[in-house]
Amino acid sequence: MNTIDPVCGMPIDPEITEFKVERWGKTYYFCNEFCLHSFLEDPKIAYFSMEIGIINEIPTYSGGLGVLAGDTIRSSADLKIPLVAVTLISRKGYLKQTITEKGEQLEHSEEWDPSKCMTLLPTSVYVQIQGRPVKIRAWFYEHQSPTGGVVPIFFLDTSDEENAFEDRMITDHLYGGDGKNRLKQEIVLGIGGVKMLKVLNFKIKKCHMNEGHSSLLTLELLKDNEMRPDSVKNLCVFTTHTPIAAAFDKYSYDLAYELLGNEYPLELSKKFAGQDNLNMTLLALNLSRAVNGVAKSHMNHSKKLFPGYMISAITNGVYSYMWTCQHFRELYDKYLPGWANEPELLVRVDSIPDDEIWDAHTEAKKDLIDLVREKTGKELDQNILTLGFARRATGYKRATLIFSDLKRLKNVNKRGKIQLIFAGKAHPRDLSGKELIKEIYKYGELLKDEISIVYLENFNMDIAAKLTSGVDVWLNTPLPPLEASGTSGMKAAHNGVINFSVLDGWWLEGCIEDVTGWSIGPSPHEVVGDEERRTRELDDLYSKMEYIIIPAYDRRDQWIELMQNSIGKIAYYFNSHRMMRRYVTEAYL
Ligand SMILES: *Cc1c(COP(=O)(O)O)cnc(C)c1O
Repeated sequence: MNTIDPVCGMPIDPEITEFKVERWGKTYYFCNEFCLHSFLEDPKIAYFSMEIGIINEIPTYSGGLGVLAGDTIRSSADLKIPLVAVTLISRKGYLKQTITEKGEQLEHSEEWDPSKCMTLLPTSVYVQIQGRPVKIRAWFYEHQSPTGGVVPIFFLDTSDEENAFEDRMITDHLYGGDGKNRLKQEIVLGIGGVKMLKVLNFKIKKCHMNEGHSSLLTLELLKDNEMRPDSVKNLCVFTTHTPIAAAFDKYSYDLAYELLGNEYPLELSKKFAGQDNLNMTLLALNLSRAVNGVAKSHMNHSKKLFPGYMISAITNGVYSYMWTCQHFRELYDKYLPGWANEPELLVRVDSIPDDEIWDAHTEAKKDLIDLVREKTGKELDQNILTLGFARRATGYKRATLIFSDLKRLKNVNKRGKIQLIFAGKAHPRDLSGKELIKEIYKYGELLKDEISIVYLENFNMDIAAKLTSGVDVWLNTPLPPLEASGTSGMKAAHNGVINFSVLDGWWLEGCIEDVTGWSIGPSPHEVVGDEERRTRELDDLYSKMEYIIIPAYDRRDQWIELMQNSIGKIAYYFNSHRMMRRYVTEAYL
């Protein structure tokens, strides 16, 4: 059987080629010496992320940040970008969510067995934590693209018998434990990660920090580069994901000293990470040549927070193939061949007949209704306008905004029936996030005779794919400016689902009113007080549903045109292939 040269993509017969190499327990085959040499020797981009959502069976992600990391890896492999990724093994996952009848979230460990899909490498490295050497090992997972490109992912693991009992648990729960444990996780990821890549013999061209969790790697790089900040800056790329200072990852220097001791001079940390606190965002910012926000508006907010810094915008995207459902994949294959590796082709969506678009959507909606029945026993109606809302359950996302005025919501429902599907997990320590889930259950009960409202437990990438393809309208109501980008609406667009969203993050770039979808509330250029904002948001939410969205849904032709616009004017651009091409030309090269 033929295999593919991971460097050039040429099919080769492993029996015949003389160019092969053993790496991380796998054999790779090449068409010539040049490709083999390039595979082994060429400098790589090292991508560091606390969470990575690569496949559903590897539950080491909590939300958009991890899914973005997964999409980054998927696109890099397709495009043969020489990237290696580093993350933590999170053996007990983030959390497995069940919800009681009253809407109370119960949290369970999501234990999984890495040995089912990864290889534990014999290599190990040590980091000093609280004066003790902590042994770190790495699990190797290979993400392979149909183009032949591969991205190795190394999952760092401290659960080794050699380690003190408390150190074995550092890599158990993603974002688990108290501040102390979180800082230990960041030491393992940033410092341990750099050391691991070194012993694995990688030559590193850039270290890309996906959010500040890994920014301690800069301290290790300083050590490796004679303490020269300029050398380190040339090696580092930083993507910030947070638009407000209060949300930055920060630790006290007392804690930093307790854990790291004198490994890295405290004065040095203070110089780059701030005098008062060890601020991970600041540390990454001060030691990276290329810094970017994840949407244009996010860049502008970041520039205000950090005057004088060069911050660019590389707007997020989603991995087109994975986030397009089977029914639309088949349509695109038929009418727009090559779309998966060149999503720009989706701009030609007009060449797909209207009825085939509608049929694909009908099938996707059926799949979702089947999933809802399977998970909840509830029967939704195929013909009713269906709105979806699913993301991390946390305050600023405002999952309950649509229930602010029940009288108006009921009026909307009289005009044309609607049904609602929710999903999302709250972080175990996010009490107000858990409260939101409870409230949605309460409203579901209160409205049950009029509007069907379902909540799907244990939100993950599989459910996200079903939801973003199976509903008619994708609702998003964050409190501006807190949504740095958001990506789930981009997934919806790949499936002809229409966005109805607050003007924040990516939607400021994606929204053309009445063409690609609809906005909720004022634009950021208007100066409005909290009360006026809320009034206008609720006006838009209810009035647009009643007078624009429901009538458009009833006129099928108009709706199909909106679907085409969602695909041809949003998905063609808001994809991770475009995003990665920009990282390559603007940050990596
Ligand atoms: C895409 C995705 C997200 C991100 O959703 P936003 O609306 O952008 O916050 C979160 N969780 C999962 C499982 C996803 O697939």
